[in-house]
Amino acid sequence: MKPVNQFGNCRECGAELVDWERVHKRDINDAKHTFKALKHEKFRHDYWHREIDQDAVDHALRKGQIELRKAATHRIRKYVGEVHEMPDGKKRPYRDGQQTPYSGNSIFYAQHATACCCRKCIEYWHNISQGRDLTNDEIAYLTDLVMLYIEEKLPNLTDQAQKVPRKRRQSQKSSSTEDEGGKSFNGN
Ligand SMILES: [Zn+2]
Repeated sequence: MKPVNQFGNCRECGAELVDWERVHKRDINDAKHTFKALKHEKFRHDYWHREIDQDAVDHALRKGQIELRKAATHRIRKYVGEVHEMPDGKKRPYRDGQQTPYSGNSIFYAQHATACCCRKCIEYWHNISQGRDLTNDEIAYLTDLVMLYIEEKLPNLTDQAQKVPRKRRQSQKSSSTEDEGGKSFNGN
């Protein structure tokens, strides 16, 4: 890998800097390296450095790590794991490429950051072919990536649920609405 200025690279430029063979092994013990590679892609990079909105933080803390992991597994299985035959004859998840919102839940942030958001990203980054259901092992690996991201971003997350008092709506506004409005979507 060459030394990089990773900021602002397009997917194609950033891709040259990625050790694909290593990333595509899908070794959870090598997640640190995989995460470093993911940050070469501008869109992912932004998700690693973006603050998780307060609603999403509160939601995560109220669930706790154990329940959040269950929710992540469910989310990945149902929205990216299961494929259905589409009118064009191809099999893919419903609304593939648009099924993962950009905010409101820490799992969504994690899915974008770790390229577990849609089957195109999963194929590109994790070398899992489209057109079929994800296997349990694949879902487990992607869930592990998602949870590692969440644990890094939310160091206060505990195994069990925490009581988080309701916040005043006012103070949340700026953090939960930025970066959302009608951004065009390009397969991420
Ligand atoms: Zn995607």
